[in-house]
Amino acid sequence: MTTDSDWAERFSRQIMLAGIGGNGQRRLGAARVGIAGSGPSARIALLYLAAAGVGLLRGETAPVAATPDAGHALAIQPACRIEPLRLPEDAAHLDLLIDTGESAIDCNRIALQWHLPLLVARFAADGGIRLVGSQAGLDPNLPCAACDAPPCPTHPPHWSTLALPAAGCALASEAIKTLLAIGDPILFSAALLFDPMRAAYQRIHRERNQTCPHCATEFIDITAATCPMTFVLVKLKMETMAPGQRLHVRLNGGEPLTNLPLTLRDEGWPVSPPWHEGEAFGLLTTKLVPSK
Ligand SMILES: [Zn+2]
Repeated sequence: MTTDSDWAERFSRQIMLAGIGGNGQRRLGAARVGIAGSGPSARIALLYLAAAGVGLLRGETAPVAATPDAGHALAIQPACRIEPLRLPEDAAHLDLLIDTGESAIDCNRIALQWHLPLLVARFAADGGIRLVGSQAGLDPNLPCAACDAPPCPTHPPHWSTLALPAAGCALASEAIKTLLAIGDPILFSAALLFDPMRAAYQRIHRERNQTCPHCATEFIDITAATCPMTFVLVKLKMETMAPGQRLHVRLNGGEPLTNLPLTLRDEGWPVSPPWHEGEAFGLLTTKLVPSK
């Protein structure tokens, strides 16, 4: 049985770090991260996140959990659970999604619809790796992973694989910063290009592409309404939208902010955490057809 003393000793080096401490380490222990892909980047990210004490890691396929790397991760952090990743079913129970570029799953779409932060790694045309983070699932003003994504090369140079370990480490590092809300999460406002042949990193600023079809949102302002008309107006708006479309709702604090997210979730529609919009609030919801 793991005692508090075992736990403190196991993670003592992280607990001593500014910005983590005991509370941060407990947050990592409660965190749930999905990792799409089963190649080297996915295995390395999984290994580092398990070693860091993330409580639940979901890999895209069951064999991920059976790899020697995963076994090593479990040896480092016995409390870590590693389970298969099923999307979109698991999306509602994740805090962060990582797309290592070795998966057929459309992680950008799932992160947008289920309002999840997303970290992505892709081969670049020059053989390097392009790392991108997106909080577009949580904020309609931020770029999604597809807003400015260049086409992936069909046949990247064979030495591109040299970049995969670095990509796995960088994804794990950014995931920890995101989960703990510490440091400067550069991947949420930038792309990071890594050229393994020159051992060079380049940071590129990203902005939302206003015509991007992936992260487009409908909008409704219900600040003039009171409950239950707030929900009625949103429901009428949703009826005009296609499944999968997202709606940006501007609403008042107090009763609307308390009641509307609960009612939307009752309808089976995921809801983002709210944010301040002047004296009002904003939130995102997605029209999804509940699975039978
Ligand atoms: Zn976009």
